[in-house]
Amino acid sequence: MNRHAGTGDIEVSLRDAVCAAGRRLGARGLISAAEGNLSIRLAGGVLLTTPTGRRKDELEPADLATVPLDPAAGPEPSGPPPSSDIAIHRAIYATRADVVAVVHAHLPISMALTLAGHAPDPTALPETAYHLPVLPLVAFGEMGSAELAGRVAAAFAPTAPPLPGAVLLERHGAIAVASAEVADRGSAALEAALVLAVDRLELVDVLCRVWRDAILLRAAGERSV
Ligand SMILES: [Zn+2]
Repeated sequence: MNRHAGTGDIEVSLRDAVCAAGRRLGARGLISAAEGNLSIRLAGGVLLTTPTGRRKDELEPADLATVPLDPAAGPEPSGPPPSSDIAIHRAIYATRADVVAVVHAHLPISMALTLAGHAPDPTALPETAYHLPVLPLVAFGEMGSAELAGRVAAAFAPTAPPLPGAVLLERHGAIAVASAEVADRGSAALEAALVLAVDRLELVDVLCRVWRDAILLRAAGERSV
């Protein structure tokens, strides 16, 4: 296994954690085919991330890739090519120094809602109001483009608090992040952050399901009057 200096054994356990997170997304029905991608910020300006073109719920630790946070700064990537969405991950990490985990999935119901012009309000439900008090909606952009990556990163870094834990992408699912203190970025802290990011993505999915059902129930009620 090709590892970068400074990552050491931490990377071994984090590879297991990324594979487990992918299986969790699959078990919840949040990813299909080769959709979705996950990453963790390692030491030394390196990201550990999922490969392109593979099911994320069937990955083995050796299937993951490491890529530089800043391609111009290095080090050289290792492993298979990452998703084209890695541009979004890089932009978020570059903009939010606190973020150590990024998880993205094409949540089907979020795509239906945003396709129909709806943006669910996280303050409508107690759980999302507490854990995700803001949920910005980023207008559609070309997948893999620097333009979209820049707008997503900007949405994660508003000028006024709170900092978002997740954002919706119009017709493209959602992205969730989690942070760790700079002084505590050992394996346990990074794994906990990855779990929290998946938790947040699940909460976005719950909100979207409830929002859709409320729309449908209201419409059915209006028809039956
Ligand atoms: Zn995507």
